[in-house]
Amino acid sequence: MSPFSNMPLTILFTLLLAGAAFGDFTPSWNKPIQPFRIADNLYYVGTNYLASYLITTPAGDVLINPNYEESVPVVKGSVEKLGFHFSDIKIILISHAHDDHAAGCALAKKLSGARLMVMDADVPLIERGGTGDFQYSQHWAPTKVDRILHDSSQIQLGGTTLTAHLTPGHTKGCTTWTMEVTDAGKTLHAVIVGSPNVNPGYRLVNNGKYPGIAADYEKCFRVLNALPCDLFLGAHGVYFGMDEKLARLKPGMTNPFIDQAGYLAYVHEREQVFRKELARQQRAQR
Ligand SMILES: [Zn+2]
Repeated sequence: MSPFSNMPLTILFTLLLAGAAFGDFTPSWNKPIQPFRIADNLYYVGTNYLASYLITTPAGDVLINPNYEESVPVVKGSVEKLGFHFSDIKIILISHAHDDHAAGCALAKKLSGARLMVMDADVPLIERGGTGDFQYSQHWAPTKVDRILHDSSQIQLGGTTLTAHLTPGHTKGCTTWTMEVTDAGKTLHAVIVGSPNVNPGYRLVNNGKYPGIAADYEKCFRVLNALPCDLFLGAHGVYFGMDEKLARLKPGMTNPFIDQAGYLAYVHEREQVFRKELARQQRAQR
């Protein structure tokens, strides 16, 4: 689900009216955009609003986030526009088990033949096709998870290593991905934030369906605050100001996605929003 709290109110109301807050497919989030290279073997292959990443290696490629089922042809088109083949994708990963990042897992697996690897606590949602989320009623094609990941699990392919950091709260298995990637001869720490957002309607206190939710958000922020970050990325472009940075991406210029200060400011701001909402809900309980 979306980081609504980052949006201008007018857009938020439009989306609410369109039913987007209830987990339906949202066509306005699924528009194709020109795919682009972020660093040496790391590419953006997502839509205007739903981030997907392709990591290419000599042993095959990794795709993070197939997004909606309706997004899969868009993502496939972007992979091909860059000159790569969807059938070279060997591993599919997700940011978290909400429909806008994960509903297309079954179709992406079918089209690519890749193995799907998911954080333990999000596996039941993927294998049941979205049902059973603590907040949303969502339904998509169920699919088998081929490898169950745990906090700090590593995925290795063709000399590239991705690390799965459990950053729970937004979903129980919400995952922030990190990898080292070179750019202009320098090694950079890339962070792909899973989601630190407390969505509208989330109950942080006395949540019978997710009793540990507040403690999980605490863990999420502990982890995010501690991660070394040069390249700041995430499950939605709005997390990291993608459109504005993309406009500044020029050959020979400093890579605008290198933004440690922006990352720290983002995590800090999201943490303050969480703490404020937690305090508000705790006061309301008294
Ligand atoms: Zn979400």
